[in-house]
Amino acid sequence: MSHLFYQGRGRKPVLDQARGVYMWDKDGRRYLDGSSGAMVCNIGHSNPHVLAAMQRQMEKSTFGYRLHFETEASEKLASRLVGLMPEGLSKVFFVSGGSEAVESGMKLARQYALAVGQGTRWKVISRAPSYHGCTLGALATTSYGPLTVPFEAMLRPMPKVPAPRAYLDGLDPDDPATGRHYADTLEAQIRAEGPETVLAFLLEPVGGASTGALVPPEGYMEAVREVCDRHGVLLIMDEVMTGAGRTGAFLGCEHWGTRPDIVVMSKGLGAGYAPLGAMIADERLVDPVLEAGGFAHGFTYAGNPLACAAGLAVVDEIERQGLCENARTMGEKLIARLHGLMQKHEIVGDVRGKGLLTAFEFMADRDSKAPLPKALNAHQRFVDIAYANGLIVYSRRTRDGVEGDHILVCPPLILTDTHLDEIVEGLDISLSQFAAELASVPEP
Ligand code: PMP
Repeated sequence: MSHLFYQGRGRKPVLDQARGVYMWDKDGRRYLDGSSGAMVCNIGHSNPHVLAAMQRQMEKSTFGYRLHFETEASEKLASRLVGLMPEGLSKVFFVSGGSEAVESGMKLARQYALAVGQGTRWKVISRAPSYHGCTLGALATTSYGPLTVPFEAMLRPMPKVPAPRAYLDGLDPDDPATGRHYADTLEAQIRAEGPETVLAFLLEPVGGASTGALVPPEGYMEAVREVCDRHGVLLIMDEVMTGAGRTGAFLGCEHWGTRPDIVVMSKGLGAGYAPLGAMIADERLVDPVLEAGGFAHGFTYAGNPLACAAGLAVVDEIERQGLCENARTMGEKLIARLHGLMQKHEIVGDVRGKGLLTAFEFMADRDSKAPLPKALNAHQRFVDIAYANGLIVYSRRTRDGVEGDHILVCPPLILTDTHLDEIVEGLDISLSQFAAELASVPEP
C-alpha cells in the first residue's frame, strides 16, 4: 500500500536509476524518456557536471534565506540568464516552479500598474486552450477543462481568446493574414474589456501541454506585440516549457524576435536536478515597483543556492554541448520522421512542433478533422501502450480538454540519431498496436 496519491489510483513502477535519455525501474526494465519527464530533463539524466556543481554547493551551503543573504549561486545564475534574454530584461526573481513563476509575473505586472498610476488594470488575457499552472492565480489564466472546471467557483475569471489553431480553423498557417486574424481577436477582446482594465497578455510562444506543440501562424507573434503596445498591455511570455533550449533556441520567442516585458521559465532550467523557476522582467517595470516600496511577493525557497547552482550548471551544459543547435537539427529530423509515421498510420491526423517540442494528434478522420471518440481515452491508452514498449511519451486531450488527443514527443536535447531511431521504432510499433486495438472496438 502506498501513502502517496497523485492523480489516479493506478500504481507505477518504482524508479531506480536514470542516465542520459534512459531510465530503469526496480525490476530492471529500461525506458527511453521520450518526454524528458514532463518536458523537464532537457540535458538528460544524471549529468556529472551538474551533480558535481551541486555537490560543491552542498558542501558550502544549501540554504540562505533571500531576505538575509544574497548568494553567489543566485547572483551568477541571474546574470547568466540576463545575458540570454532580450535587451532590457535584466531583473530576475527566482522561484521553485512554473506556477510560481507565472504567479510572480502576473503580480509584478499588477504592482507595476499600481506604481505608475494605472490601478484600473488587472485583467490578464490568455488563450483557450492553455495551461499556465495549477495554483489558483495561474489556473485563472488556464483554459483546460479537466483541471479548471472543479475550481471555477474559487477563481476570478480572466478573459480568454482562441489559441491560433489554424489547422483546426481551416486557415493557412503560412499566410500572414492568419496571424493577423488571431491578433485581431485579441485586440477585439481588449477593446471589449476596456483597454484601461487590461494588464497583460499571457501566452506560450509554442503551445505546450494544452495545444500540443502548437506553432503560431506566420505574423502572429509580431502582430500580438503590436496590439499589446497599442493598448499599453504588457506581454508575459510563458517559457516554462519552451525555455532552456527546448524549441531550438534558448527562449522560444527568439524564433520570432519577439521582445516580451516579462519572461517566466522553469522546467528545463532546473532540468529535474532541482525545483527552480525564474521570472525575468524588464527593468522599466521593476524600478517603479521598488521605488514604490518593493515587490509584495515572495516564496520561502526563492533563490535557494542549491537550486541556483544546479541551474547555473544546467545552463553551462546547454551551452557547452550546443544543445539549442542539437534541438534544432534533431527536431527537424524528428518532425520528418513523425510525418513518415503519419503517412503510414491513418489515425495520426496532424504533426507539428518546433525543435524538440513536437507532437502528433489523433483524428478519426483527417478531412473533417473529427477527433477519436472521447470514451476511448485515446491519448492515455496510447501512452500506456508505448510505456509497455519501453517508451515514455506525454499526452493530453486537446481542443479545450473536451475531445481530441495529442501525444507530445519531447526527448532530452542530448538526443542522437540512434536514440531517434529507437523512439520512431517505439512509436511505430505502438501506433500499430493501438490501431489494431481500435479496429477491434465494436462500432457504437
Ligand atoms: N506554464 C506552462 C507552459 C507549463 O507547461 C507548466 C507545467 N506544465 C506550468 C506553467 C506550471 O509549472 P509547474 O507544474 O512547475 O508549476
